Amino acid sequence: MSPDLIRLSNLTVAYDRHPAVHRISGSIAVGSLTAIAGPNGAGKSTLLKAIMGELRPAEGRVEHLLQRTDFAYLPQAADINRRFPISVLDTVLLGAWRQAGAFGRVAESERAQALEAVKAVGLEGLGARQIGSLSAGQLQRVLFARLLLQDAKVILLDEPFTAIDARTTRDLIDIILRWHGENRTVVAVLHDFEQIRAHFPQTLLIAREMVEWGPTADAMSSPNLLKARAMAERWDEDAGVCEPAA
Ligand code: ADP
Ligand code: MG
Repeated sequence: MSPDLIRLSNLTVAYDRHPAVHRISGSIAVGSLTAIAGPNGAGKSTLLKAIMGELRPAEGRVEHLLQRTDFAYLPQAADINRRFPISVLDTVLLGAWRQAGAFGRVAESERAQALEAVKAVGLEGLGARQIGSLSAGQLQRVLFARLLLQDAKVILLDEPFTAIDARTTRDLIDIILRWHGENRTVVAVLHDFEQIRAHFPQTLLIAREMVEWGPTADAMSSPNLLKARAMAERWDEDAGVCEPAA
């Protein structure tokens, strides 16, 4: 067994004192490949943000010895302004900020790495294109190229394949598997159970509270999935509100 890289102890994260995730405990091993699954509004995005330190625990702890720059993060639904007039290559180069510093000059070597990354995600020759002219799948490839350039120890992906075509999804899963082969630690929020079962050895199933965290076959058992759904429905009633679709 690999040693733990990140440990969550009794972690609760709240917005305006309303817990969004409640009492999550478990650990993420060095080099592990973990899926986070659960219904809409289950707290999956919140949990990712707490893991990388963007949100603070209301209770409990996230423990690790990592720097903020050890994390690379792909937000849900490409939180990127596509009307911003920026090229594919420059978008990828934003991933090099870690090395260059926000005001550092982009070295030739970084430009070469960015071109390499653009090629690795299957967009060779499109470096000069404006991101506004890309399809959703192409844009997601660009964002993966940026992650490649970030060269991070821990990669957190929030629904990377939602609304992405099958071919792109397959190619990007290959990149995730390559990261896994390089002993990077990857955590991804995913909705497709088959994808999770096929590629992700570990799964955390949550519905605000932890349902199960462990080997995927155990975590994603039918009883656990039913339990997650029942827990999610119960909250909606308790909150007395209709949860917006994520
Ligand atoms: P998921 O990613 O599993 O769909 P989220 O982590 O986005 O779930 O949300 C969990 C809960 O926290 C939901 O009830 C959501 O409405 C609430 N929430 C998420 N972000 C915020 C926010 N910025 N302010 C207040 N409530 C939020
Ligand atoms: Mg989410």
